[in-house]
Amino acid sequence: MRGEGRDAVVRKMSRKWARISISLMTAGLLLAFVGVMADTYMPIVPGFALLGAAVGVKLTKLRCPYCTAFATTPQWFGNDNKKCRKCKRFIQYDY
Ligand SMILES: [Zn+2]
Repeated sequence: MRGEGRDAVVRKMSRKWARISISLMTAGLLLAFVGVMADTYMPIVPGFALLGAAVGVKLTKLRCPYCTAFATTPQWFGNDNKKCRKCKRFIQYDY
């Protein structure tokens, strides 16, 4: 397998930050949705702030642990055998 031996240590991505990112994204979408439904922009502004924070977490904390490329969709549970788009290594979560 490519990369084995050169880097046999399994590095893992933080589940904690994956969950934080998903939570922020869900809350942001919910607020934006409520704003659209109620026809008021008041909840949309913090909604987009939360979405921005979710993207920020994704870009800073959820990178490929091997090559630090922008990695993958955060998962709440499980390890779906996600591969890094760049270095093609499997990305595992720490728990
Ligand atoms: Zn990678």
